[in-house]
Amino acid sequence: MVELGILFTELFTYFIFAGLAYYFFYRLFRRVIKNRIIQKKFEGKDKILEEIKYSMSTVFIFTFNFAVVYHLQERGYTRHYKEVSEYGVFYLFISAFLMILLHDTYFYWAHRLMHHPLLYRHVHLIHHKSTNPSPFAAYAFHPLEAFAEIAILYLIAFIIPYHEYAIMMWWGYMLFFNVMGHLGVELFPADFLEKGILKWQNSATHHNMHHKFFNFNYGLYFNVWDGLMKTVHPKYYESFKEITSRGEQLKMAAFLESLNEESSGENEDKEFNEE
Ligand SMILES: [Zn+2]
Ligand SMILES: [Zn+2]
Repeated sequence: MVELGILFTELFTYFIFAGLAYYFFYRLFRRVIKNRIIQKKFEGKDKILEEIKYSMSTVFIFTFNFAVVYHLQERGYTRHYKEVSEYGVFYLFISAFLMILLHDTYFYWAHRLMHHPLLYRHVHLIHHKSTNPSPFAAYAFHPLEAFAEIAILYLIAFIIPYHEYAIMMWWGYMLFFNVMGHLGVELFPADFLEKGILKWQNSATHHNMHHKFFNFNYGLYFNVWDGLMKTVHPKYYESFKEITSRGEQLKMAAFLESLNEESSGENEDKEFNEE
């Protein structure tokens, strides 16, 4: 049955992406990345369990909508095509990229709408319960917000000629960056945002600051809409720099400390010789 297959895929991908991120950064390499923990500590277990609980309801809602689109597709109502060769491999990648661009725009505006006081209080607040989210917050939405999030799938299916491989690429890309945005750990190098086009790529710090400060940094994949609408947090670039250079600062402090010790050692020798 198709529905069960979709449900299994949704559950599996959520737990693989969020679970591996959690295992590597919150357990296995926690000491290695400790300087890169954005808010200097991780969220407690209770909050994480709550993120998983809401994410499970989202998994069911996403599954339901994927199944609806699948049945619409089977009846020929969508722009689905069967063979990759019909549009070619190049178009397959272009169509996945178009999905990402369309989703980025859709997400930014839907997200801003979610911050309208009425919707915020009754719906979006669930996602903002985590002020220092973990990777498991990737799908932690109120059921109504989960429906709003997955509505992009209909837009894509009715607008862009698509093959299921392109949907898979887009969805994998979405989940990867969604988990990264909620990771709570900044993995990009210190000069990442200074490198031309890369400054438009959102970082883990970008979305973490959205959870901490609420009314800034609404974007999903790219910082373009936030830049255009002047909703980038005024301290975003500064915070990114501070987090990504903490390790260097600590090394420098240790170096200065060692110099201090050496020179005070020399002074002691001097005093000893003068006596
Ligand atoms: Zn929000
Ligand atoms: Zn979030």
